[in-house]
Amino acid sequence: MSFSLHGIGVSKGIAIGKVHIINHDPVEVNEYCVPTLHLDKEVARFENALATARQQLLSIRDRIPKDATVDIAAFIDAHLLMLDDSLLTRVPIDLIHEHQCNAEWALKMQCDSIIQIFEGMEDPYLSARKNDIAQVVTRIQRILHGYTDIEFEPVEAELANTIVLADDLSPADTIFMQHHGILAFATEYGGTTSHTAILARSLGIPAIVGLRRAHPYIQPDDTVIVDGFAGVIFVSPDERSLRYYRMRQREEKRYRAALSKIKTAPTMTRDGTPITLHVNIEFPEDMAAVKRVGGDGIGLYRTEFLFMNRQTLPDEEEHFDAYSRVIRALKGRPVTIRTLDMGADKQVVDSRFHGGSSVTNPALGLRAIRLCLKAPKLFKPQLRAILRASALGQVRMMIPMVCGLQELVQVRNIVEEIRTELSIQSLKFNPDMPFGVMVEVPAMAICTDLVAPYVDFLSVGTNDLIQYTLAIDRGDEAVNYLYDPLHPAVLRLIKMSIDGATKVGKPISMCGEMASDSRYVRLLLGLGLRSFSVNPEAFLEIKKIINNSNMKGLARFAKKILKTSSQADIADLLETINA
Ligand code: PEP
Ligand code: MG
Repeated sequence: MSFSLHGIGVSKGIAIGKVHIINHDPVEVNEYCVPTLHLDKEVARFENALATARQQLLSIRDRIPKDATVDIAAFIDAHLLMLDDSLLTRVPIDLIHEHQCNAEWALKMQCDSIIQIFEGMEDPYLSARKNDIAQVVTRIQRILHGYTDIEFEPVEAELANTIVLADDLSPADTIFMQHHGILAFATEYGGTTSHTAILARSLGIPAIVGLRRAHPYIQPDDTVIVDGFAGVIFVSPDERSLRYYRMRQREEKRYRAALSKIKTAPTMTRDGTPITLHVNIEFPEDMAAVKRVGGDGIGLYRTEFLFMNRQTLPDEEEHFDAYSRVIRALKGRPVTIRTLDMGADKQVVDSRFHGGSSVTNPALGLRAIRLCLKAPKLFKPQLRAILRASALGQVRMMIPMVCGLQELVQVRNIVEEIRTELSIQSLKFNPDMPFGVMVEVPAMAICTDLVAPYVDFLSVGTNDLIQYTLAIDRGDEAVNYLYDPLHPAVLRLIKMSIDGATKVGKPISMCGEMASDSRYVRLLLGLGLRSFSVNPEAFLEIKKIINNSNMKGLARFAKKILKTSSQADIADLLETINA
């Protein structure tokens, strides 16, 4: 029987294929007593499970592609080491004998006590190791429970050409899956501007989030159609639907091909206002997509992805190497390297530095620049690498999540120290490298005119600006309905930022996802924005709209919208400008 399920379409595109289900749900642990006579058998069952877990990990490690961009092997090796540790191999056996309990129960007792010890540790790195323990234990519990699959592992071979259905996916999972050639994904949780959704758009993978309770209705290998435009998944579609969606796929392809004709055209409104249009990237590998669309600069390079899916921190040389690759590919065009924005939904290097899942409200906690200023071990190698890279091309450095001048002064002082260090070491850097700041905390938007004189450029990060202005978690589908770029408060803050920067003659851009949404381009032009940085998939579409717009009248429209209180009226006005 064919039917459809509805969620939130977060990455446009259509995919047709077989479902691959990823289940992160914890296994239910049964607890029962084992008669003395059967204790040896129970121990043997546990030891077999350990051996199977080891085999699974080895087989996963063998299948890591040679060209993997992330240190997957180190991640698997850490789990293999844990499987050799007596804490997980010997102690549960002692517990089986001591309490005459089943293997699952013994393992659970031991896992709980290890995790308790780790949680009590002062050192945030060690405290965060509990995630690894939990993952290894879950693997063994699943085997004891009788699951024969090797569970979701990023290097799962069967991912190619499938449509992944999962409860939730981290940005790290998404990178792994893209590497393995998935066609699309759908999750039960997640919001429009979660980093997972942003990655999907950036990687061009059709995606739907917020498909609550989809799991019971969809089976592995079911054929589905993912409509990332409408946020609908069609399960076991009939021939007519398949024909219709195949036709839509062909149309989409034709539309993309037609768009590529404007690749080399300048970005300029019909009445001659030049607009800067740059691209957002996450990896040096994204430069291929930038080249494909003809992007002539990077307005946001999210460097935190260098920290994901690995157990060790990248050192200065690794940073430098990544930045150099981007700079070389740009051939003299500008790149805006944003310093590490780790924390909240970007849990990287096992959240070792930001308290991980034990933090009640990570989006308001030690994230981005707050974390970097607290952890020089993270920050300094990156700053050194950015400064050194500045000698190779047009590099600009941008600081995320700043909420006031004080943080900027602190960063400037560290940068100054590093410059002195580099000079002493006779290492080259650009002493005039532009230094910029993101406007993504309401405090910063309100005070843009006060902060702008101290920086060389600014960029509005609407993903966070909206989250913090409207007090809604950008990754939570339950409040996604409130996530509205057209909320008068958001529009007023954007206007304040643009005016504040312009007043003191500082360039301001927008690199949040609002800039990548074709519906808002004319409104943003009307609000005075002259520089956009967008994801590679949206680039040509945004360029087309800019090139088809007349500045005349847009400022008046924007003014009218700023004075409108009802969101429905704002949407109507927007339709008029977009007509
Ligand atoms: C933003 O907040 O708009 C932004 C561009 O940063 P990120 O999405 O990486 O938080
Ligand atoms: Mg942000």
